[in-house]
Amino acid sequence: MAESIKVDKILEKLSTTNSADKELVIRAFEFAKKAHEGQVRYSGEPYVNHLAHVARMLAEIGMEAHTVAAGLLHDTIEDTNVTSEELQKEFGDEIFFLVQGVTKLGSVRYYGSDRHNESLRKLFVATSQDIRVLIIKLIDRLHNMQTLQYVPKEKQLRIARETLEIYVPVTHRLGMGRIRKELEDLAFPYVYPDEYTKVFNLTRHIIKKSEEDLEKSRKSLQKKLAESGILNFHTSFRSKGTYSLYQKLKRREWDMDKVYDFLAIRIVVSSIEECYRVLGIVHEHWRPLPKRVKDYIAFPKPNGYQSLHTTVITPHRNILEIQIRTEAMHRDAEYGIASHVMY
Ligand code: MN
Repeated sequence: MAESIKVDKILEKLSTTNSADKELVIRAFEFAKKAHEGQVRYSGEPYVNHLAHVARMLAEIGMEAHTVAAGLLHDTIEDTNVTSEELQKEFGDEIFFLVQGVTKLGSVRYYGSDRHNESLRKLFVATSQDIRVLIIKLIDRLHNMQTLQYVPKEKQLRIARETLEIYVPVTHRLGMGRIRKELEDLAFPYVYPDEYTKVFNLTRHIIKKSEEDLEKSRKSLQKKLAESGILNFHTSFRSKGTYSLYQKLKRREWDMDKVYDFLAIRIVVSSIEECYRVLGIVHEHWRPLPKRVKDYIAFPKPNGYQSLHTTVITPHRNILEIQIRTEAMHRDAEYGIASHVMY
Protein backbone atom coordinates (compact mmCIF):
# COMPACT_ATOMS: atom_id res chain seq x y z
CA MET A 1 0.00 0.00 0.00
CA ALA A 2 1.18 3.50 -0.83
CA GLU A 3 2.36 5.67 2.02
CA SER A 4 0.14 8.28 3.56
CA ILE A 5 0.73 11.93 2.89
CA LYS A 6 2.36 13.95 5.66
CA VAL A 7 0.47 16.80 7.30
CA ASP A 8 3.29 19.19 6.29
CA LYS A 9 1.94 19.04 2.74
CA ILE A 10 -1.16 20.81 4.02
CA LEU A 11 0.54 23.15 6.47
CA GLU A 12 2.86 24.54 3.78
CA LYS A 13 -0.17 25.82 1.87
CA LEU A 14 -1.90 27.40 4.87
CA SER A 15 -2.03 31.18 4.49
CA THR A 16 -1.58 31.79 8.22
CA THR A 17 1.44 30.93 10.33
CA ASN A 18 -0.65 31.19 13.49
CA SER A 19 0.24 28.28 15.79
CA ALA A 20 -3.38 27.70 16.89
CA ASP A 21 -4.38 27.26 13.23
CA LYS A 22 -1.54 24.84 12.59
CA GLU A 23 -2.38 22.90 15.72
CA LEU A 24 -6.02 22.63 14.64
CA VAL A 25 -5.10 21.26 11.21
CA ILE A 26 -2.66 18.76 12.72
CA ARG A 27 -5.30 17.60 15.21
CA ALA A 28 -7.91 17.19 12.45
CA PHE A 29 -5.39 15.30 10.32
CA GLU A 30 -4.52 12.85 13.11
CA PHE A 31 -8.20 12.40 13.96
CA ALA A 32 -9.16 11.70 10.34
CA LYS A 33 -6.23 9.36 9.83
CA LYS A 34 -7.25 7.30 12.83
CA ALA A 35 -10.96 7.34 11.95
CA HIS A 36 -10.30 6.12 8.39
CA GLU A 37 -7.60 3.65 9.42
CA GLY A 38 -7.58 0.58 7.17
CA GLN A 39 -9.78 2.20 4.49
CA VAL A 40 -8.30 2.47 1.01
CA ARG A 41 -9.21 4.40 -2.11
CA TYR A 42 -9.71 2.62 -5.43
CA SER A 43 -6.18 3.76 -6.28
CA GLY A 44 -4.87 1.62 -3.44
CA GLU A 45 -3.82 4.67 -1.47
CA PRO A 46 -4.80 5.08 2.18
CA TYR A 47 -8.11 6.94 2.46
CA VAL A 48 -6.50 9.76 4.43
CA ASN A 49 -4.63 10.79 1.27
CA HIS A 50 -7.93 11.85 -0.31
CA LEU A 51 -8.64 14.01 2.73
CA ALA A 52 -5.13 15.44 2.70
CA HIS A 53 -5.42 16.37 -0.99
CA VAL A 54 -8.77 18.06 -0.38
CA ALA A 55 -7.37 19.96 2.62
CA ARG A 56 -4.26 20.99 0.71
CA MET A 57 -6.30 22.37 -2.19
CA LEU A 58 -8.59 24.22 0.22
CA ALA A 59 -5.55 25.85 1.81
CA GLU A 60 -4.19 26.61 -1.66
CA ILE A 61 -7.27 28.57 -2.67
CA GLY A 62 -6.98 30.61 0.50
CA MET A 63 -9.40 28.90 2.89
CA GLU A 64 -8.66 29.40 6.58
CA ALA A 65 -7.87 26.69 9.11
CA HIS A 66 -11.44 25.75 10.15
CA THR A 67 -12.40 25.06 6.55
CA VAL A 68 -9.18 23.14 5.95
CA ALA A 69 -9.85 21.08 9.09
CA ALA A 70 -13.42 20.44 7.93
CA GLY A 71 -11.94 19.31 4.60
CA LEU A 72 -9.92 16.69 6.51
CA LEU A 73 -12.99 15.57 8.42
CA HIS A 74 -15.58 15.79 5.63
CA ASP A 75 -16.09 12.01 5.28
CA THR A 76 -15.93 11.05 8.96
CA ILE A 77 -19.67 11.13 9.73
CA GLU A 78 -20.58 9.33 6.52
CA ASP A 79 -17.81 6.74 6.26
CA THR A 80 -16.48 5.98 9.76
CA ASN A 81 -17.68 5.05 13.23
CA VAL A 82 -17.25 8.61 14.43
CA THR A 83 -20.60 10.00 15.60
CA SER A 84 -21.90 13.54 15.14
CA GLU A 85 -21.73 14.04 18.90
CA GLU A 86 -18.07 13.03 19.08
CA LEU A 87 -17.12 15.27 16.20
CA GLN A 88 -18.96 18.24 17.70
CA LYS A 89 -17.37 17.64 21.10
CA GLU A 90 -13.88 17.25 19.64
CA PHE A 91 -13.89 20.13 17.12
CA GLY A 92 -16.68 22.50 18.15
CA ASP A 93 -19.80 23.86 16.46
CA GLU A 94 -18.26 25.59 13.46
CA ILE A 95 -16.32 22.61 12.08
CA PHE A 96 -19.16 20.27 12.99
CA PHE A 97 -21.60 22.47 11.06
CA LEU A 98 -19.35 22.42 7.98
CA VAL A 99 -18.85 18.64 8.02
CA GLN A 100 -22.56 18.06 8.58
CA GLY A 101 -23.35 20.37 5.68
CA VAL A 102 -21.04 18.45 3.34
CA THR A 103 -22.52 15.15 4.51
CA LYS A 104 -26.08 16.38 3.78
CA LEU A 105 -25.05 17.46 0.29
CA GLY A 106 -23.77 13.95 -0.31
CA SER A 107 -26.77 12.64 -2.21
CA VAL A 108 -26.91 15.10 -5.11
CA ARG A 109 -27.45 13.03 -8.23
CA TYR A 110 -27.84 13.60 -11.93
CA TYR A 111 -30.86 11.80 -13.42
CA GLY A 112 -30.83 13.09 -16.96
CA SER A 113 -33.68 15.46 -17.61
CA ASP A 114 -32.91 19.13 -18.06
CA ARG A 115 -35.56 20.45 -15.71
CA HIS A 116 -34.41 18.05 -13.10
CA ASN A 117 -30.89 19.39 -13.41
CA GLU A 118 -32.06 22.91 -12.86
CA SER A 119 -33.87 21.97 -9.68
CA LEU A 120 -30.90 19.98 -8.49
CA ARG A 121 -28.63 22.91 -9.05
CA LYS A 122 -30.92 25.16 -7.06
CA LEU A 123 -31.11 22.65 -4.28
CA PHE A 124 -27.38 22.36 -4.34
CA VAL A 125 -26.94 26.05 -3.83
CA ALA A 126 -29.81 26.43 -1.39
CA THR A 127 -28.73 23.56 0.83
CA SER A 128 -25.46 25.20 1.66
CA GLN A 129 -26.32 28.01 4.03
CA ASP A 130 -22.61 28.57 4.41
CA ILE A 131 -20.73 28.92 1.13
CA ARG A 132 -17.77 27.09 2.68
CA VAL A 133 -19.83 23.89 2.66
CA LEU A 134 -20.19 24.16 -1.07
CA ILE A 135 -16.51 24.99 -1.56
CA ILE A 136 -15.46 21.87 0.38
CA LYS A 137 -17.92 19.81 -1.69
CA LEU A 138 -16.50 21.20 -4.95
CA ILE A 139 -12.91 20.50 -3.95
CA ASP A 140 -13.94 17.00 -2.81
CA ARG A 141 -15.41 16.44 -6.27
CA LEU A 142 -12.29 17.85 -7.90
CA HIS A 143 -10.09 15.29 -6.17
CA ASN A 144 -12.55 12.51 -6.99
CA MET A 145 -12.31 13.55 -10.64
CA GLN A 146 -8.50 13.69 -10.45
CA THR A 147 -8.58 10.05 -9.36
CA LEU A 148 -11.49 8.89 -11.55
CA GLN A 149 -9.23 6.61 -13.60
CA TYR A 150 -9.04 4.19 -10.64
CA VAL A 151 -12.82 3.99 -10.15
CA PRO A 152 -14.58 0.92 -11.65
CA LYS A 153 -15.50 1.54 -15.29
CA GLU A 154 -19.25 1.24 -14.74
CA LYS A 155 -19.23 4.12 -12.26
CA GLN A 156 -16.97 6.51 -14.18
CA LEU A 157 -19.53 7.77 -16.67
CA ARG A 158 -22.15 8.59 -14.05
CA ILE A 159 -19.66 10.51 -11.91
CA ALA A 160 -18.22 12.40 -14.88
CA ARG A 161 -21.67 13.32 -16.21
CA GLU A 162 -22.82 14.48 -12.78
CA THR A 163 -19.71 16.65 -12.69
CA LEU A 164 -20.45 18.28 -16.06
CA GLU A 165 -24.19 18.69 -15.44
CA ILE A 166 -24.26 19.79 -11.82
CA TYR A 167 -20.88 20.75 -10.39
CA VAL A 168 -19.52 22.67 -13.40
CA PRO A 169 -22.53 25.03 -13.65
CA VAL A 170 -22.15 25.77 -9.95
CA THR A 171 -18.45 26.65 -10.31
CA HIS A 172 -19.37 28.84 -13.26
CA ARG A 173 -22.09 30.64 -11.33
CA LEU A 174 -19.66 31.24 -8.49
CA GLY A 175 -16.95 32.50 -10.84
CA MET A 176 -14.45 29.78 -9.88
CA GLY A 177 -12.70 29.71 -13.25
CA ARG A 178 -9.74 27.53 -12.40
CA ILE A 179 -11.80 24.79 -10.74
CA ARG A 180 -14.40 24.92 -13.48
CA LYS A 181 -11.77 24.41 -16.20
CA GLU A 182 -10.18 21.50 -14.39
CA LEU A 183 -13.51 19.77 -13.68
CA GLU A 184 -14.62 20.20 -17.30
CA ASP A 185 -11.42 18.86 -18.77
CA LEU A 186 -11.33 15.88 -16.42
CA ALA A 187 -14.95 14.93 -17.19
CA PHE A 188 -14.91 15.63 -20.94
CA PRO A 189 -13.12 12.45 -22.19
CA TYR A 190 -15.47 10.21 -20.15
CA VAL A 191 -18.72 11.86 -21.20
CA TYR A 192 -17.89 12.63 -24.85
CA PRO A 193 -14.99 10.33 -25.80
CA ASP A 194 -15.29 10.77 -29.59
CA GLU A 195 -15.60 14.53 -29.43
CA TYR A 196 -12.68 14.64 -27.03
CA THR A 197 -10.49 12.74 -29.49
CA LYS A 198 -11.56 15.08 -32.27
CA VAL A 199 -10.62 18.18 -30.26
CA PHE A 200 -7.39 16.58 -29.12
CA ASN A 201 -6.35 15.79 -32.70
CA LEU A 202 -7.18 19.31 -33.85
CA THR A 203 -5.03 20.96 -31.22
CA ARG A 204 -2.19 18.67 -30.24
CA HIS A 205 0.26 20.15 -32.76
CA ILE A 206 -0.71 23.76 -32.25
CA ILE A 207 0.67 24.32 -28.76
CA LYS A 208 3.93 22.52 -29.49
CA LYS A 209 4.39 24.34 -32.79
CA SER A 210 3.64 27.79 -31.35
CA GLU A 211 5.59 27.42 -28.12
CA GLU A 212 8.76 29.12 -29.31
CA ASP A 213 6.93 31.97 -31.07
CA LEU A 214 4.75 32.50 -28.03
CA GLU A 215 7.75 32.81 -25.77
CA LYS A 216 9.31 35.37 -28.16
CA SER A 217 6.06 37.32 -28.23
CA ARG A 218 5.82 37.33 -24.46
CA LYS A 219 9.42 38.55 -24.12
CA SER A 220 8.96 41.37 -26.61
CA LEU A 221 5.74 42.43 -24.92
CA GLN A 222 7.42 42.45 -21.51
CA LYS A 223 10.17 44.66 -22.91
CA LYS A 224 7.64 47.03 -24.43
CA LEU A 225 5.72 47.33 -21.17
CA ALA A 226 8.86 48.00 -19.15
CA GLU A 227 9.95 50.67 -21.66
CA SER A 228 6.57 52.34 -21.26
CA GLY A 229 7.10 52.60 -17.51
CA ILE A 230 4.82 49.78 -16.37
CA LEU A 231 6.81 48.49 -13.43
CA ASN A 232 4.79 45.93 -11.53
CA PHE A 233 3.33 43.29 -13.78
CA HIS A 234 3.57 39.65 -14.62
CA THR A 235 2.66 37.71 -17.72
CA SER A 236 1.66 34.11 -18.32
CA PHE A 237 0.23 31.86 -21.04
CA ARG A 238 -3.02 30.09 -20.95
CA SER A 239 -4.50 27.74 -23.49
CA LYS A 240 -8.23 27.22 -23.64
CA GLY A 241 -9.53 24.11 -21.88
CA THR A 242 -10.45 21.23 -24.18
CA TYR A 243 -14.12 21.18 -23.10
CA SER A 244 -14.53 24.92 -23.46
CA LEU A 245 -12.85 24.71 -26.87
CA TYR A 246 -15.24 21.90 -27.83
CA GLN A 247 -18.21 24.12 -26.96
CA LYS A 248 -16.79 26.87 -29.14
CA LEU A 249 -15.84 24.58 -32.05
CA LYS A 250 -19.44 23.34 -32.20
CA ARG A 251 -20.51 26.93 -32.85
CA ARG A 252 -17.71 27.55 -35.39
CA GLU A 253 -18.17 24.62 -37.79
CA TRP A 254 -15.17 22.86 -36.19
CA ASP A 255 -12.84 25.40 -37.82
CA MET A 256 -9.83 26.23 -35.61
CA ASP A 257 -9.20 29.33 -37.74
CA LYS A 258 -12.45 30.73 -36.39
CA VAL A 259 -11.36 30.34 -32.78
CA TYR A 260 -9.38 33.40 -31.70
CA ASP A 261 -8.90 32.70 -28.04
CA PHE A 262 -7.26 29.27 -28.08
CA LEU A 263 -3.96 30.78 -27.00
CA ALA A 264 -3.74 33.77 -24.72
CA ILE A 265 -1.21 35.86 -22.87
CA ARG A 266 -2.35 37.21 -19.54
CA ILE A 267 -0.97 40.45 -18.20
CA VAL A 268 -1.58 41.18 -14.55
CA VAL A 269 -0.93 44.76 -13.43
CA SER A 270 -1.48 46.74 -10.24
CA SER A 271 -4.31 49.15 -11.09
CA ILE A 272 -7.34 49.58 -13.36
CA GLU A 273 -5.72 52.66 -14.88
CA GLU A 274 -2.74 50.52 -15.87
CA CYS A 275 -5.05 47.96 -17.50
CA TYR A 276 -6.20 50.59 -19.99
CA ARG A 277 -2.67 51.89 -20.51
CA VAL A 278 -1.46 48.37 -21.22
CA LEU A 279 -4.27 47.87 -23.74
CA GLY A 280 -2.99 50.96 -25.58
CA ILE A 281 0.59 49.71 -25.50
CA VAL A 282 -0.48 46.29 -26.83
CA HIS A 283 -2.36 47.90 -29.73
CA GLU A 284 0.61 50.11 -30.52
CA HIS A 285 2.88 47.07 -30.54
CA TRP A 286 0.73 44.53 -32.42
CA ARG A 287 -2.12 44.89 -34.87
CA PRO A 288 -5.47 44.21 -33.20
CA LEU A 289 -8.25 42.38 -35.02
CA PRO A 290 -11.34 44.53 -35.51
CA LYS A 291 -14.32 44.17 -33.14
CA ARG A 292 -12.37 41.99 -30.74
CA VAL A 293 -11.82 44.49 -27.92
CA LYS A 294 -13.94 43.60 -24.91
CA ASP A 295 -14.11 45.76 -21.83
CA TYR A 296 -15.22 43.41 -19.08
CA ILE A 297 -13.90 45.90 -16.52
CA ALA A 298 -16.56 48.51 -17.26
CA PHE A 299 -19.04 45.74 -18.15
CA PRO A 300 -18.33 42.62 -16.06
CA LYS A 301 -19.74 39.26 -17.14
CA PRO A 302 -22.85 38.11 -15.23
CA ASN A 303 -20.72 35.97 -12.90
CA GLY A 304 -18.56 38.97 -12.03
CA TYR A 305 -15.61 38.23 -14.34
CA GLN A 306 -13.51 41.32 -15.09
CA SER A 307 -10.64 41.83 -17.56
CA LEU A 308 -9.84 43.63 -20.81
CA HIS A 309 -9.64 41.30 -23.81
CA THR A 310 -8.24 42.00 -27.23
CA THR A 311 -7.05 39.80 -30.09
CA VAL A 312 -3.85 40.63 -31.96
CA ILE A 313 -1.69 39.26 -34.76
CA THR A 314 1.94 38.91 -33.76
CA PRO A 315 4.87 39.28 -36.21
CA HIS A 316 5.10 35.47 -36.12
CA ARG A 317 1.57 35.46 -37.55
CA ASN A 318 0.11 33.94 -34.45
CA ILE A 319 -3.36 35.01 -33.46
CA LEU A 320 -3.28 35.67 -29.77
CA GLU A 321 -5.80 36.81 -27.25
CA ILE A 322 -4.46 39.27 -24.70
CA GLN A 323 -6.15 39.39 -21.30
CA ILE A 324 -5.34 42.34 -19.08
CA ARG A 325 -6.42 42.53 -15.44
CA THR A 326 -5.44 43.61 -11.95
CA GLU A 327 -4.18 41.24 -9.27
CA ALA A 328 -7.58 41.33 -7.53
CA MET A 329 -9.45 40.59 -10.77
CA HIS A 330 -7.06 37.73 -11.41
CA ARG A 331 -7.71 36.17 -8.02
CA ASP A 332 -11.46 36.58 -8.58
CA ALA A 333 -11.30 35.00 -12.02
CA GLU A 334 -9.43 31.99 -10.67
CA TYR A 335 -11.22 31.42 -7.36
CA GLY A 336 -14.43 33.47 -7.58
CA ILE A 337 -16.51 33.40 -4.47
CA ALA A 338 -13.77 31.55 -2.60
CA SER A 339 -11.72 34.75 -2.62
CA HIS A 340 -14.57 36.63 -0.90
CA VAL A 341 -15.24 34.27 1.97
CA MET A 342 -15.44 36.30 5.18
CA TYR A 343 -14.40 34.87 8.49
MN1 MN B 1 -14.62 12.82 -0.04
